Amino acid sequence: MIFSLHVIKELLQISVPQRRELERTYALIPATRCQRRTHCCSMLPEMTLVEALAAIQRLVNMDPHMRILLIKRTVSYFFLNPVEITSCPFLDNRDCLIYRDRFFGCRAYGLWSQEYYEKLTASNRQAKKYIQKQWENLGVFLPQAVIDFQVPYCLNVETESHALISDEMLLNISDTIEKLSEHFSQWHQSFRQMYFSDLSFLLASLVLGFTESVRMKFDVVSNIVNTGNRARLDRAIGELPDLFA
Ligand code: SF4
Repeated sequence: MIFSLHVIKELLQISVPQRRELERTYALIPATRCQRRTHCCSMLPEMTLVEALAAIQRLVNMDPHMRILLIKRTVSYFFLNPVEITSCPFLDNRDCLIYRDRFFGCRAYGLWSQEYYEKLTASNRQAKKYIQKQWENLGVFLPQAVIDFQVPYCLNVETESHALISDEMLLNISDTIEKLSEHFSQWHQSFRQMYFSDLSFLLASLVLGFTESVRMKFDVVSNIVNTGNRARLDRAIGELPDLFA
């Protein structure tokens, strides 16, 4: 099932209770202090549909200049993430522009035990190798530095109240968020299976169409890898409309 702008608008309308519950669930994670090195913000985290909807609602409510800037950054991120180590599109200097609505992945980073974080990293490494192979089957060889890049484990995050939080607590919170998102059944599944839980893919497909965004990603990535030319991407990003005007 492919998302359209119409579907997103309907989902925004009907998801108010789940988004409120999402806020309450996020609040179970203690506030943290860190040295704001923003290593954790070097990529857009995977998320559930209900979290993506909260971020989209935030975009809808934004000043239009900021909104179009963030749409452009996020769509650009979708095209460039296989070839560049970019930062999360919501990162601005050292600030998160959607801090109140940042995702579970952002909140949990630095709170996992090192052992569990290594497991997450290992699974992410496997996923990236699989993606690398898929691109190779299409004749495109992604930069190894991008494939090998992993966000390092952070020792500089601590809860403000010095409350201890275990992996089990975080996993329970993650399960609760998953259940909230499952309320949107087929759309929840579609976001995971067809859009790989990637908000940047969702926004790119809303603005360019699902098939066109996939086709264009192949063109853009293979052009950058083979010739370094990103003129087509720059032109397309320059012309993007404000989806939520
Ligand atoms: S949403 Fe905010 S906190 Fe999360 S990775 Fe992006 S900039 Fe960092």
